Amino acid sequence: MKSVFLLFPAALGLLAAPAAAQSRHPFSSRDSVTKQGYTLVFINLDSALAPVTKQRMTDAFFKVYPLEAKRFNPKTRRKVTFFVNPAYTGVAATDNGLVDYNPTWLREHPEDIDVVTHEVMHLVQAYPPDSAPGWLTEGIADYARYVYGVNNQAGNWKLPDYKAGQRYTNSYRITARFLVWLGQHGHPQLVNQLDAAARTRTYSPGIWQQKTGKTLDELWAAYAAQPAVQLTYR
Ligand SMILES: [Zn+2]
Repeated sequence: MKSVFLLFPAALGLLAAPAAAQSRHPFSSRDSVTKQGYTLVFINLDSALAPVTKQRMTDAFFKVYPLEAKRFNPKTRRKVTFFVNPAYTGVAATDNGLVDYNPTWLREHPEDIDVVTHEVMHLVQAYPPDSAPGWLTEGIADYARYVYGVNNQAGNWKLPDYKAGQRYTNSYRITARFLVWLGQHGHPQLVNQLDAAARTRTYSPGIWQQKTGKTLDELWAAYAAQPAVQLTYR
């Protein structure tokens, strides 16, 4: 989804910010759930948020975050805050342990529960600034949404068919589909390798060739020539 991965910490990343907004807001709720070592603090400033939506977002968190963490980064943070924030006008954004959600988006797209799956993957990624190109960061987050999503089918969220003119730099679902294809064409570890490199500041454009024997452009050309991929959605 459209989201800003790295906000300036002064914007909304600091936990003090929602706390301050919460205290002066006419409606607010805050609760905290801990399961199997992970804690979700849920702050909601939207009185109209459907309880079922809040519950589904919470359930998605406890289902997908441990799976994403286990595969990519077991040391990811244990405590996460969801902030349903009427002042936030994007879809969702993640920084510093806090995920902002736009309540209007949630109301108008009640099946888009896997916006959670995408956003919390950004927490697992925890890439230092400028350690990976933005298109790859977002492509991996949508790859995780594809693999671990709980409601993509009902949410009508799909990886788009390949079309001439696409590039891996298109980001989000277009890049994610390329990553799925790579996994099905001889490189099942590649997403893990790219993700680990980005987190440890060892990503460079040469990593594609180091890990696969082909440059990124060569891999993309092979994909464009034979883009068929097996896809299943939950
Ligand atoms: Zn994102």
